[in-house]
Amino acid sequence: MSEMAKTLVFTGEKQIELREYPIPEVSDDKVLVKVDACAICTWEQRVYTGVKKVDFPFIGGHEMVGRIVDMGKNVDQRQWKIGDFVAVGVTLPCKNCYQCKSGNEQNCENFDHSKQQEGLPEKGMGGMSSHLLVSTDTLFHIDNVTPEEATITEPLSCVLHSVETAEIELGDTVVVIGCGIMGLLHTILAAKKGACVIVSDTNEERTALALELGASYAVNPAKEDLEQRVKEITGGIKAQVVFDTTPISKVAEDAVKAVANNGRLVLYSSFYPDTPISISPDWLHKSAAKLLGTANSNIVDFTKATRLLSQGIVDVKPFVSEVYELEDYQKAFESAIQGDKFRVVIKF
Ligand SMILES: [Zn+2]
Ligand SMILES: [Zn+2]
Repeated sequence: MSEMAKTLVFTGEKQIELREYPIPEVSDDKVLVKVDACAICTWEQRVYTGVKKVDFPFIGGHEMVGRIVDMGKNVDQRQWKIGDFVAVGVTLPCKNCYQCKSGNEQNCENFDHSKQQEGLPEKGMGGMSSHLLVSTDTLFHIDNVTPEEATITEPLSCVLHSVETAEIELGDTVVVIGCGIMGLLHTILAAKKGACVIVSDTNEERTALALELGASYAVNPAKEDLEQRVKEITGGIKAQVVFDTTPISKVAEDAVKAVANNGRLVLYSSFYPDTPISISPDWLHKSAAKLLGTANSNIVDFTKATRLLSQGIVDVKPFVSEVYELEDYQKAFESAIQGDKFRVVIKF
């Protein structure tokens, strides 16, 4: 019997099955990627725990990297060859709507997590599979990092998009609320943009790591008032940029208080539950502040994220918390949902 491909299929709440499927044959315009590793994002954790509803069966995984093992005859051989190490991304936007056509694939009108990916036995983003049939516009060269580290490309690309949205300038004060992986990646990039970074989290182990990674100040909001501390540090001006990386509406509401006149508040996380917040329209009017959202990333962000990693500009080693073999997928998910890890990675 010929070798089979393997995939992890969500079949119900807290139910995952390891299934086999035939290794897809390359068509003329596609390449076959053998996946080395895929990280378990918060999104997959929410599908696993039932917080995020999807139609089962469903294949998760959108933080995956691998090697090109086969190529169709029409694939551009000047750019791609068998053996290339690649991050796979941007498989979800439709590439046809107004947002996609105007360079904003990250806000695609038809963004679909439940698309059927070619060659896979079930619908879904598909990254938790050993073999993917993809077109090269979803591939990004990456090198000088391990597959486990390379899985951070997708989260880094989203943070890069967020940080570019905030238009940080040299000498700005930036507040990053939440020191999970997303908050810490914001901290690293904001510091590299020349900002003085203030992080806020009740977990002092994590704020200590933030200080190592480039933050200048750490605030514990359970012990001190964030707005007050930001005022003290900035001589009353407050922050030019505030990133909220938490999923909590109340935190977003309070985050506004740390924003300087002409400052920007960027809401990075999705919100669970999505409780409305209240903001003073007169403050917004007088301060000329900007309230911004950001979600996902586009081809440009992916390209730049792979450069940040390949050139050693951003070191993501601290974020690979655990690595599991494919057979131990159940353990991997159970560990990931404890919430005390940055990224749990599954090897394929
Ligand atoms: Zn993700
Ligand atoms: Zn689109």
